[in-house]
Amino acid sequence: MAADRPVVVIGAGSAGCVIARRVADSGRSVVLLEAGSLDAPESIHSPSFFDALATPGWTWDGLDAQRVAGQEVRPYARGRGAGGSSAVNAMLAVVGEPDDYDRWERDHGCDGWSWRDVAHIFAALPIPLRDVAPSRLAGAVGRAWTDSGRPGAVEAARLTQHPNGRRASAFDVYVTPARDRVAVRGDLTVDHVVIDAGRVHGVVTSDGESIESDTVVMAAGAIHTPIILQRSKLANPLVGQGLHDHPSAPFTIAWRDPADPAREAVTGIVRTSSGAAPNDLQILPIEHLGREAAGFATLNAALMNVWSRGSIVDGHIHFGMLSDERDVAGLTAGVRIVRELLASEHLQSLVAGVFIDDVGTPMDHLGDDDDAIVAWLAQRTGDYVHAAGTCAMGRRGESVVDPQGRSWDVAGLWVADASVMPRVPRANTHLPTLMVAEKIAGPLVASLAG
Ligand SMILES: Cc1cc2nc3c(=O)[nH]c(=O)nc-3n(C[C@H](O)[C@H](O)[C@H](O)COP(=O)(O)OP(=O)(O)OC[C@H]3O[C@@H](n4cnc5c(N)ncnc54)[C@H](O)[C@@H]3O)c2cc1C
Repeated sequence: MAADRPVVVIGAGSAGCVIARRVADSGRSVVLLEAGSLDAPESIHSPSFFDALATPGWTWDGLDAQRVAGQEVRPYARGRGAGGSSAVNAMLAVVGEPDDYDRWERDHGCDGWSWRDVAHIFAALPIPLRDVAPSRLAGAVGRAWTDSGRPGAVEAARLTQHPNGRRASAFDVYVTPARDRVAVRGDLTVDHVVIDAGRVHGVVTSDGESIESDTVVMAAGAIHTPIILQRSKLANPLVGQGLHDHPSAPFTIAWRDPADPAREAVTGIVRTSSGAAPNDLQILPIEHLGREAAGFATLNAALMNVWSRGSIVDGHIHFGMLSDERDVAGLTAGVRIVRELLASEHLQSLVAGVFIDDVGTPMDHLGDDDDAIVAWLAQRTGDYVHAAGTCAMGRRGESVVDPQGRSWDVAGLWVADASVMPRVPRANTHLPTLMVAEKIAGPLVASLAG
């Protein structure tokens, strides 16, 4: 192995920033390649998630996906630029259930990934977290929840923010303090990884530049990592299979008295159960929808324990949501719970109307029988921006990478982002992705020492 060739990390998102930093900490040279900009404008740092998300150039344009078979194709949000999706996400910090990780080991052959193995990694993540006070909507949902007598309540959100409320993206936390040791190149899109005779030799950019390396780490996220590997002709038919996300049922709220769009949008979540598994539903109140949609809020029910799977083939992204009946039943239960909350007296006093689509159809039009709810879900189910599973780790012959993140097929090729999750945890995926990258950094760095 030529010692002067840097380790190449593709994508400066949640995972790529962790990997680049850990390689640099080991004393090896590393170059982090990012398609988007490295110069974050003020809106990216602001506490307002919608201001960050609306920043031109900081999400991927033209990325369309189908959620449920038969639904129209709609844009899918992915961050682009220093920090990747962690630069535009809603900053909710959630770990998931211990059994989510036990299942990776038990059901998917991911030895070493049980909760016992990963809990200390979550605990040691160097990410600042800020507890926020519930907003008007989260507070009202909390009150409705208590009145309903259901188990659990709205939990105050913990956000990946500095104490002053500024966003703490993975780039801010891992790369910025080590810029003298981590080479970063922005505005540079990787076209493909060069694979020959069973090992990697580097990458080629969309401008035709070749960057040689013996070690390439894929961290372009669960959508772009498989797309790049398919372009690279990686001979593993499972690349791009196993795509999933948490399906969500969206209700739009019109306030009587609009919320301030400069305020935090997300300040609490409800964790509850459909009855099929503990904490398999998350109910997310979003207080406002940014400056473009003043006066509106949303209440989403998301199914966190997901069975349906889709795929990415030739750039076509099909989530295949609700293709498994268990997911239909779980999300239907979520819809019923949200409707019950929205009917509460206190929420009604704040809300001028609740709608079930973009053209203002009132919630009353959604019939009460399961068939009506299921028909509505087929049309309106959305995503939760938590794509995972497209280069899953697991057993040989059943997966793309081994439980250390190494390609089964090509020496020197690693995958370290949300693609490797064999099953998305019952959590928002930023902290779990950081944990995954921290864990894969261990064997990666050890492999470089030889
Ligand atoms: C709008 C939004 C809101 C979210 N809210 C939350 C939340 O509140 N809490 C939470 O926990 N999770 C949230 N998530 C999910 C979470 O942020 C992601 O799961 C996580 O950041 C994924 O990390 P990753 O490293 O796999 O990919 P990413 O962070 O997406 O990083 C991939 C990087 O690779 C780059 N890239 C892609 N292709 C190429 C290429 N060809 N060449 C070079 N670079 C490339 C991209 O530009 C990007 O910077 C949200 C996501 C979004 C999009």
